[in-house]
Order: sequence, then structure tokens, then C-alpha cells
Amino acid sequence: MLVNNGKYVMNEGVDPLFLAEKYGTPLYVYDFDKIAGQFHRLKAAFDVPNLQLDYACKALTNINLLRFVKSLGGALDTVSIEEAQLGLSAGFEPQEIMFTPNGVAWEEMVAAVGMGLRINIDSLPMLERFGRTFPDVPVCIRINPHIMAGGNVKISVGHIDSKFGISYQQLPSIKAIVENTGMCINGLHMHTGSDIADPEAFLQGADLLLQLAMGFPDLDFVDLGGGFKVTYKPGDQGLDLERLGAMLSARFRDFCQAYGKNLTLVFEPGKFLVSEAGYLLATTSLIKKTPAATFAFLNTGLNHLIRPMFYHAYHHIVNVSNPQGDPHLYQVVGYICETDTLGHNREIPEVREGDVLCLLNAGAYGFMMASNYNSRPRPAEVMLFEGKDYLIRERETMEDLRRHQIDQHLFD
Ligand SMILES: *Cc1c(COP(=O)(O)O)cnc(C)c1O
Repeated sequence: MLVNNGKYVMNEGVDPLFLAEKYGTPLYVYDFDKIAGQFHRLKAAFDVPNLQLDYACKALTNINLLRFVKSLGGALDTVSIEEAQLGLSAGFEPQEIMFTPNGVAWEEMVAAVGMGLRINIDSLPMLERFGRTFPDVPVCIRINPHIMAGGNVKISVGHIDSKFGISYQQLPSIKAIVENTGMCINGLHMHTGSDIADPEAFLQGADLLLQLAMGFPDLDFVDLGGGFKVTYKPGDQGLDLERLGAMLSARFRDFCQAYGKNLTLVFEPGKFLVSEAGYLLATTSLIKKTPAATFAFLNTGLNHLIRPMFYHAYHHIVNVSNPQGDPHLYQVVGYICETDTLGHNREIPEVREGDVLCLLNAGAYGFMMASNYNSRPRPAEVMLFEGKDYLIRERETMEDLRRHQIDQHLFD
């Protein structure tokens, strides 16, 4: 979001206050042009013969976004059969959808084969069962490179204690299964975590995967996952994507030469594509001063954006109603009956009752992790594209909160 003539504007001059007025708050807003910008930036950073971006759609699955990613030339990374079904209904071909579940039941794998998805396997028992049942269906293997990467333990998934992937140290077992079943391994995959800022950590994992890849003669692709860090705090250091791109591309081109075939290099960006494009607009319901602090209460909370409480994530907060006001310190909190601090000790231009505040970086894992806790409806979603706004999800109603409840009238 930019400040233009002392006012905040989104996309090509869209006024967030106009959106708050038109659609009500709380409201999730996504700038699709910004998503396109991130997509192209990622593409441009890597100089390899074949590059493919699989959008990790668990970050945000609105169907308009899925169709948009498809229009940009992207594919999908999915972690549940339902995400894959959403992908199909958005127009992706089955082979454009990678299915990377973790520890799901066998039936879900069978369904994925039936749908014709690309499949990624993350345990030895699953690999063995898959190879025996579907020896003719090529699959990818998720390797755990045992690298501690990512912003914190909750979002770091490639370390040695992690439940994800097959340990690279179990390579002999992988080999034995592949040999005994005659199955075809068409890809190797790793995803080490979210919020990776250090190109070295990424390269270390990539290097290990490429070394392993030399031992699999039928590969079509190598998939290095997602986790590219974006900046949350002003002054934060993001990942130096261009530097990573240059180093990794050189390494990958060398690998292809040694391997004797130009494989496709795949990434699975989630947060990188959509985080910074997303905003959560909320209205200030109350200002409360205590001897210790000034609280600004919003008409939202951890039910709509759980990241601050769950991951201690920092989301920058601006006052779009009073950008020129005198700055004061605030505890920005939600309306949930539980501690739900959205911003701790924030210096924000004076917040008054009724002011619309905006939480930045709310595109990834925002709406998707929203719940009905405290029996509050989930927000509406709006897409911004080329200066226009479009409603892409209705705000929930009382009706939605009652849906699926069965009143047995036993105690009337
Ligand atoms: C979540 C996930 C991603 C995306 O992670 P980001 O941090 O959002 O980029 C990529 N690949 C897999 C397998 C995932 O589970």
C-alpha cells in the first residue's frame, strides 16, 4: 500500500476507505496485480532451461486466484485432495497439480491416482505400497534434507525431527523399494520451511537434493519447494531472491549437464506470491486507556488472523482513516474473548473510534486459517485488478453459523 498525497491507496489508486464503506469490515483485500508482479519476479530470478512455478495454494485458495495463477502460466501445489479438486474446478489439468500430502490415508492416494494428479510421496511405507499397487504410475519423492531453515520451529519442516519427507539417510531403503517394485521415480522434492531468508540454507538443501538426483535415472523434474521469505516489518531483510536465483541457476545448469538431460526446476511459492498482496481492513470499535496502556479494539481478532498469536508473526498496522495524525502507542487488539493482540506497542497515528485500520501482509494464511471462534462470521474477500474491485467471497451470515447444526429438539 502506498501513501499518495498523504492518503493510503491500493492497486491503481483504489481507496481502502471506499472499500471499507462499500463492502463493510472486516474485509480481506487482495491486489492481483501485485501477485502477478511477484510471479514474474520469481520467474525472472532463475535462468534455467525449464522453470515451473507451482503455487502452494494452501496459502489462499479463492477460485479467482487459482484461475489467475493459471492465466499467468503457473501450476499448483496441493496438500489435500480437496485442494486438488478446487484446482481442477479452477481449470487446471490434473498433471498441472502436484499432490503433496503428509501422512494421509491410502484411500486419498488412490483417489489422487484416479484423478491423474502428479503425486509426491513422503514416507517409506507409502512408497512401498504405492510401488506395489501402481508400479506404472510415476511418482515424486519428498526428501527430508535435515536442514534447519525457516522462521521458527512451527514453520520449519525440513529438520531431522520433522514429520515431513523421507530422510535422505534412508536412501538405501528408497532404492530397495524402487528396485523391488519396478516403480518409476520422476521427481525429487524438498520443502524445508517457511520464511527462509538465508540463500545458503536453501542452497545447502538444493545441493543435497541434486546429489541424490544423480542416482535416479528417470527424473523429469526437481522440486525445491517454497518458503521464500517476504518482509513483514519495515526495515526487515527479505530473501535476496536475485542472488539466490543466480547461484541456484548456475548450480542447476551444471547439474543438468552432468545428468545428461534438461530437467524442469520447480518451486512452490505460497507466501511469496500472495502475502504482501493481501490486506485485512478492520474498524476500531473502542479505545480504552488503562494505567498501563492504550488499547485500540478492532472488529476482528485471532478468529480472522491467527498468525500474530499462533506464530508471533508481525503484521504492520496502519491507520488509513488518519494517516496524518499524531503518533501514539497502542496495543492493537481484537474482540475475541481470549488474549488476541494483533499489534503490540505500535506507534500509529492517533486512532479514534470508527477509524479503519489495515493489517498488512495478510494475503497468505490469513483467511485460510480463519475460523468461527466466538461464533463470529468470517470476512468477505475482495479482489483488486487493474484499478477495479470485485467481490470474490461473501461475508458469512448467521445462516452460515447455524448451517450443519442439527437441532434434535430433545430439550425443548
Ligand atoms: C506450505 C508449502 C509450501 C509453501 O510455503 P510458503 O512458505 O508459503 O512459500 C510449499 N510446498 C509445500 C509442500 C508446502 O507444504
